Amino acid sequence: MTSPDFLPFTRPSIDDDTIAGVADVLRSGWLTTGAKCREFEAALATYFGGRPVRVANSGTATLELALALCDIGPGDEVITTPLTWAATGNVIARRGARPVFVDVDPVTRNIDLQRAEDVISPVTRAVMPVDLGGLPVDRDALYDFANSYNLRVVEDAAQSMGSNWKGRRIGSFGDLVSFSFHANKNMTTGEGGCLVLNDDAEAARCERLRLQGVVRDADMGMEIEEISGKFNMTDIAARIGLGQLPSLDAFNTRRRDLARRYFASLDASLHLGLPVADFEQSNWHMFQVLLPLERLAISRGEFLRRMHAKGIGIGVHYPAMHLFSAYRRAGWKEGDCPNAERIGARTVTLPLFPAMQDGDVDRVCGVLRQVMRGAME
Ligand SMILES: *Cc1c(COP(=O)(O)O)cnc(C)c1O
Repeated sequence: MTSPDFLPFTRPSIDDDTIAGVADVLRSGWLTTGAKCREFEAALATYFGGRPVRVANSGTATLELALALCDIGPGDEVITTPLTWAATGNVIARRGARPVFVDVDPVTRNIDLQRAEDVISPVTRAVMPVDLGGLPVDRDALYDFANSYNLRVVEDAAQSMGSNWKGRRIGSFGDLVSFSFHANKNMTTGEGGCLVLNDDAEAARCERLRLQGVVRDADMGMEIEEISGKFNMTDIAARIGLGQLPSLDAFNTRRRDLARRYFASLDASLHLGLPVADFEQSNWHMFQVLLPLERLAISRGEFLRRMHAKGIGIGVHYPAMHLFSAYRRAGWKEGDCPNAERIGARTVTLPLFPAMQDGDVDRVCGVLRQVMRGAME
């Protein structure tokens, strides 16, 4: 389908030691949740400054578990951002609660917490912000907001593994913090995720909810006090994670350097909307630019096709989610979140992953320049 020098927008880096380690797990006779998951949880707990951590089979699962731990259900409202992956709004709706989408700040593209004050209601129970592209939401403002309205916080930090807020690692502080280890994230377990929790009691409940709500007793009998689903991670996935975590900081440093190179190469004459140039706090999960559609004779779809034809993979992250038909049926419409709608219609994600060479960035920028100049009116 694509030529060998096709550059995808992202690709995981898995080393030989990790591949060998996975083979060992496969030979061991134990594939599901076991010693490797516990070892991975211990490594993550250390990474997050000693807070309890539980792993799960996706970052969607950890969000769903987090909402369950907050006892969020029918009749409740959760404030969130429309500029995110489908999981964020969907998990709220699947709990039977109502997602309340608040528009984003046009510069950071993250939830505008000042606007969030306007949608507080007697049934608002939690706030679920997203660090889009790895750029952290202002944690001081977030916890001031949550504390003044007595809200739980479920940080959807799916994209911000290794990001920090004023030098404090995301996940090492705060309320519930959820990460994803999907193959496209800054570190992966194939599919997977983890939830950073407040204390051992909450971690124990999380562990029960992760596997049907089952509690085993000493006689190998079992009991269910709280019904739940199936969210546990395999030891195969955990072994991949154990191989990735020690490389995470190096991966993110490389991403940061590549991002700097993009900034140096993308000149103002292209009229692209650039991301915030944060080289201190962001893990540069994605490099997203906004197309100046009003100056182009082509649509975003045609731009993607032209880039693809010249060997460059481009992503779209994300259309504003309140405008999906399932959410329109719940009453959401154009104009509800104008900044997110504007960004969602123009955003494109340029290739950025640790194994990229400097020359790959130059190639992307060269092709981008060519495609855009050819389409400028
Ligand atoms: C990736 C992602 C998720 C969900 O993660 P999965 O592991 O794919 O379930 C949730 N929220 C955001 C913002 C994401 O980027």
